[in-house]
Amino acid sequence: MRDDTTKSAAGLGYGPHTLAIPGPSIVPDRVLRAMHRPSPNIYHGELVDLTHSLIPDLKRVARTEHNATIYIGNGHATWEACLANTHARGDLVLIPRTGTFADGWGEMARGLGLRVEYLDFGNRDAMDAAAIGARLREDKAHEIRSVLAVHVDTSSSVRSDIAAIRSEMDAAGHPALLQADCMASMGCDVFEMDEWGVDVAIAGCQKGLMTPAGMGFVFYNDKAARARARADCVTGYWDWVPRTEPEIYFRYFYGTGPTHHLYGLREALDMLVHEEGVEQAWERHGRLARALWAAFERWEAPGGLELNVRDRAARSHAVTSVRLPERGTALREWSEQEFGLTLGIGLGMAPLGSEEWHGFFRVGHMGHLSGHSMMGTLGGIDAALKALAIPHGDGGLEAATRALVAD
Ligand SMILES: *Cc1c(COP(=O)(O)O)cnc(C)c1O
Repeated sequence: MRDDTTKSAAGLGYGPHTLAIPGPSIVPDRVLRAMHRPSPNIYHGELVDLTHSLIPDLKRVARTEHNATIYIGNGHATWEACLANTHARGDLVLIPRTGTFADGWGEMARGLGLRVEYLDFGNRDAMDAAAIGARLREDKAHEIRSVLAVHVDTSSSVRSDIAAIRSEMDAAGHPALLQADCMASMGCDVFEMDEWGVDVAIAGCQKGLMTPAGMGFVFYNDKAARARARADCVTGYWDWVPRTEPEIYFRYFYGTGPTHHLYGLREALDMLVHEEGVEQAWERHGRLARALWAAFERWEAPGGLELNVRDRAARSHAVTSVRLPERGTALREWSEQEFGLTLGIGLGMAPLGSEEWHGFFRVGHMGHLSGHSMMGTLGGIDAALKALAIPHGDGGLEAATRALVAD
């Protein structure tokens, strides 16, 4: 059901436009300016030094002392990269599922000739680490070679406890690799690759890392490096070995580097790692998310909005999935056209384009985001609720402001 009876807000869609979708995120002007330059020499000099400097900073974001590689590609490229470097055809991988991104990773695995088994936890709750442990204990022959866990599933906005999965794997004495998809969460939700015992972590540059889409990152430890020895579906381009310790610069990327993106990423990492600090960025995202939840918890009403994830502990600090039966699309369209605010479409909750699909939307709140940006986004949603006469409770914006300034 589409609602075409939107009340105009008298042309308030002019002026600056805000993109509040869960990737790509807002690119800071500083990052854009850093990219605005002539092409550099790719053989020696500034670009080469700059590229070397990115690796330790990327590791700081992933919280690992092990290896970091950069691929010219998106998140899907890193799905393929991590699997190709750690598996042989016919390997079994276990995928705990909390949303549609688990399906995407599994499809990539199948395409590489792996066998995929899902443990489905639905679209609204975190993974049950104990259930993963129970499945691993059954696997006496250690057929399962990896557990592929999406840290934050961007479709459902469910965040799972990756450290708890590691504990269960250890308690089960199971040797599988733990691989974590941190595409949505890195730089936003707390993630500790080494401390949590994650063997492989993957991320993209266009979400918490505030850089235009086009680079993917694969982090891996020594155990994952050993798995590389039996990998039989990895080809030259995807091989992480030369990318990790390139004997010559172009091996970083197996060809020409993503020149301008590297300058952009340098600037973004200066902001995230050296100016704000990763831990402070986690804090900021936590507080902004709590403000958003506070508003929505007030707005929730029968026949109106409902946050997809009920348990606060299982909610991402980077993205929020919202249920609004029948009117999700109408709210998005109104906020975009009348208020200059673009919200994310629903993903994976109902078949794309179906009647039911119109009953969802998502808010991206990852990366370059201040208290002011969050209040602007919430203000746009509040205005849409009122303009479209969608039933909602009072005091949402007030509750958000209080959450932002709370001790
Ligand atoms: C965005 C995202 C991906 C896919 O990234 P693309 O760059 O769109 O290929 C994979 N997993 C998660 C959790 C994501 O948020």
